[in-house]
Amino acid sequence: APERLCRTRFAPSPTGPLHFGSLVAALGSYVHAHRKGGEWHLRIDDLDPPREQPGAADAIRRSLEAHALCWDGPVVFQSRRSSAYEAALARLRAAGQAYPCGCTRREIMAVARRGPNGPIYPGTCARGLPAGRTPRAWRLRCGHAPLRFEDALQGPIQCDPAATVGDFIIRRADGLWAYHLACAVDDGEFGFTDIVRGADLLWCTPPQILIQRALDLPTPRYRHLPIVVNAQGQKLSKQTHAPALNDADATGNLLRAARFLGQSPPAALRHAPPQTVLDWALAHWDDTRVPQVGSPTPASPLP
Ligand code: GLU
Repeated sequence: APERLCRTRFAPSPTGPLHFGSLVAALGSYVHAHRKGGEWHLRIDDLDPPREQPGAADAIRRSLEAHALCWDGPVVFQSRRSSAYEAALARLRAAGQAYPCGCTRREIMAVARRGPNGPIYPGTCARGLPAGRTPRAWRLRCGHAPLRFEDALQGPIQCDPAATVGDFIIRRADGLWAYHLACAVDDGEFGFTDIVRGADLLWCTPPQILIQRALDLPTPRYRHLPIVVNAQGQKLSKQTHAPALNDADATGNLLRAARFLGQSPPAALRHAPPQTVLDWALAHWDDTRVPQVGSPTPASPLP
């Protein structure tokens, strides 16, 4: 069969403006698609209004445009996808793979084992909602089968979902859709062939694959890029007060992001327009030089 057209996406949450860590994920996914003659899409993961910042989605789009990172097709907003998520939940319920959970956070915290990514739900409601309980959240039965996938950069990943994530939430008690559900449904339904994103999301891949399998959706290939950390070793994020990208220095930002991903753009590009840096990247990118783990030093200023 002919190889399917490579399709990737960049999926920021509009909790603030883009920072250098987001640019690394954007550039990595952009280059991956375009080197293969494929498409690069933009999805705004606006699932959690209380955490969002007014105007951030527009600021993200302007910032991408300033970096000449132009996306294919219309922007997809997860806030407009709730009927797809409803349908997915209905299918999972009908198949007995999702169940309502009436436990409060406090009850769970009191008894849960701690997994590498937070408390592991003890399964109290898995056999049926206890009498007198109102359903709050919806969970996916994750089962005990080991899950394996090949990450194009991090290598073979093997995990026991029951021991690392447990039955996880797909719809929250406040009615909001959980990131795992929305992401798995969208990645599958939009037919992305390759998910290129930061390695901080590596642990999210097994739950997302479980959802895709339960819904008979295709599972993409995964490539988890090294993550950018600050001088304290923390991932750049809104919580760690990562500074917004300075759109006025798009060329410098792109050169730094390319270097962070192991590439060696020539110094002469320093005064070129951003598009020229992208053209250089598409012509010269070497996947074998992308490091698995981010450098422990902060993204250094350009000389
Ligand atoms: N929107 C999420 C984030 O920004 C997920 C991104 C993804 O799956 O690529 O962390």
